[in-house]
Amino acid sequence: MKVLFFLAPVAAFGVSLIGQESARYAGPIIDMHQHAEWEMWSSTRLCFPAPCTPAPTKAQSLAELKPRTLRAMEENNIVMAVVSAPPRYVLPWTQGEGSRWLTGIQLNNPADVPIDELRQLFASGRAQVMGELAFQYEGIPIDDPSVDPILALAESLDVPVHVHVLGLGGEPAFPIELGNPTRVATVMRRHPNLRIYLENAAWPFLEEVTSLMYQYPGVYADISTIAHLFPRDVFHAYLQGLVRNGLGKRLMFGSDQMLWPEVIGEVVDAINSAEFLSLEQKADIFYNNAARFLRLDPAQIERHHEG
Ligand SMILES: [Zn+2]
Repeated sequence: MKVLFFLAPVAAFGVSLIGQESARYAGPIIDMHQHAEWEMWSSTRLCFPAPCTPAPTKAQSLAELKPRTLRAMEENNIVMAVVSAPPRYVLPWTQGEGSRWLTGIQLNNPADVPIDELRQLFASGRAQVMGELAFQYEGIPIDDPSVDPILALAESLDVPVHVHVLGLGGEPAFPIELGNPTRVATVMRRHPNLRIYLENAAWPFLEEVTSLMYQYPGVYADISTIAHLFPRDVFHAYLQGLVRNGLGKRLMFGSDQMLWPEVIGEVVDAINSAEFLSLEQKADIFYNNAARFLRLDPAQIERHHEG
């Protein structure tokens, strides 16, 4: 029922109707993947494949990061964003900001998670998204039994879960195979009502993520870091594979802004420049799919399209 509503505003508002298939989307955008901490990330941006030259810029302090992120959001019509970090960083970031940001609680190791405190954060309305769950960096896959209490809590609270599954990282602590999204199938068997979305659409596991998302229609994915880590053609080939496989209604825009707010505009452009996407498919990725996944109410959707 809601799907019909979500599609309607796209035709009416904020769309640049220049040309047909290659028209650029200019409406509101929901960013499903930002960060709000300083210490975890390396100072230089990554790039692949080697040899390549990473972009040199980064914000010089956490104080500088937020205003620069806000500026990039305004320039790109980002009307709402999920921003995550450990509570001591993310709660001050989102406090008093209204509905512009949804607060994500980033968890890096399941052994360090006080479940009761976590429950309280969500029950009190101070947090809205469980994640990013970055256990893969510690060598712990998402289907490890130690993660189960966290997933059970998210399922019982009916809150979205953002999971880091990516076949790329720093061996040996972060083996490629831990990013295989078939591990999410194990999780979904244990917790069939989880509202889960996968970082980076689980690149490069196109067949596996397709299989997972066919099997579990509630699983969504964000398009984030892979849109600026690789040459544009490499990213477009993966995105086209996802869309060709029929997953275009469950892909969501994400920037994975860490220390470099300029990536927000780069990821917008990476999607907007995809000639194989229709304007309607771009609108789905930039806004409609996230609005459905987050269960935004019709009044909020209307406000987003009025800006
Ligand atoms: Zn991230």
